[in-house]
Amino acid sequence: MCDLTKPEFTDEELARKRLEALRWPNGPVCPHCGGIDRNYPIKADAKKKIRPGLYKCGDCGQQFTVTVGTVFENSRIPLNKWLVAVHLMCASKKGVSSHQLHRMLGVTYKTAWFMTHRIREAMREDSTGLLGGGGKAVEADETYIGGKEKNKHRSKRNKQHIGGVGKQCVFSLVERGGKVRSKLLPTVNARNLKAVLKANVDTKTTRLMTDGEGQYRLVSHLFASHEVVNHGDGEYVRGDAYTNTVEGYFSLLKRGIVGTFHHVSPQHLGRYVAEFDFRYNHREMRVKVDGKLEKSGYSDATRALMALKGIEGKRLMYKPADQKQEV
Ligand SMILES: [Zn+2]
Repeated sequence: MCDLTKPEFTDEELARKRLEALRWPNGPVCPHCGGIDRNYPIKADAKKKIRPGLYKCGDCGQQFTVTVGTVFENSRIPLNKWLVAVHLMCASKKGVSSHQLHRMLGVTYKTAWFMTHRIREAMREDSTGLLGGGGKAVEADETYIGGKEKNKHRSKRNKQHIGGVGKQCVFSLVERGGKVRSKLLPTVNARNLKAVLKANVDTKTTRLMTDGEGQYRLVSHLFASHEVVNHGDGEYVRGDAYTNTVEGYFSLLKRGIVGTFHHVSPQHLGRYVAEFDFRYNHREMRVKVDGKLEKSGYSDATRALMALKGIEGKRLMYKPADQKQEV
C-alpha cells in the first residue's frame, strides 16, 4: 500500500525534498552543464519572485530547480499533487482517469488531463533489449481497441470489413514470468509481424506461443519452436502451449480502457498502452520459496518510485516547436 497521508503528499516543500533525494542522491546536478561541485541554493523570496527550490550553478551561472529536465517542468501544479497523482496511477491496476484525479486533487479537469499524460510519458519505457532467449516462452497476440462496428449507426458502419475496422490494433509480446512489450500496428500481417518480432524477441532461442491465426504460422521458422493453440477448435491449453498470459494482459487493458477511461482517442492510445505495460512490468509477483508463496517484484511504493525515475529526459516532446531545444 502507499500511504497518501504521508507528509510528502500534503506538503509541497517535503515533496520537493523527496524528489531531490530521488533525482540527486549525491547532491544537486546542474541540468545545463552537468556541474556537481558548485551548486548553491538561493533563498526563496516571494517579493523578489524567487521560487522555492532554486539553485544557481557556479560553473555555468545558470539557475535551476529539481523539475528542470523532467515531465514536471514548467508546471505550476504543486509538487505534492504530482506525487499523489503518480502514486495513484501506479497503485491502481486499471489506471486512474483524469476525471477521478480532477476530483481527488482539487485541480481543474484540464490540469488533471495534462498531469495524467505527462505521467504516462514518465512511464513510457524504451524498447531496448530483446524478450525471450535461452529457451524461454514468449506469447504473442493482437487485440483491437475502439468502437464496435455493430454498435455504430447503420449508415456509418463499414460493411466490407469485420473485426478490426474502426479500431486500433494492439500487438503484445509477453515473456512468461518476464516483461510485456506492446506496439500499435495498423494491422498484423506476415510482413510487419516479422519486423516487429525480429526487433523485440531473441527469436532463435525462444519458443513462440500463439493462437491459430494464419499470419503466425508464416513466422514459425524464425523461432526455436512454435506452439499453436487452436482456439477455433475449443483448445486453450495443451501442456505448456497456451496464450493465457497475453490474453490476461489484454483483458486488464480492455477493462481499464472501457471501465476507467470509457473512450480513448486513437492518437493517445499509445500512451495508455505504455501505462499498462509499465504497471505489468513493475508488478507484484508471488513466487514459491521453499514451498511457500512469497511476494516478489514491486510494491505500490517501489512501482511509483520507478515511475518517478522515468520523469527525466522526456520533456522535449512537450516543447512548442518554435522553442529552441537545449543540448
Ligand atoms: Zn551549470
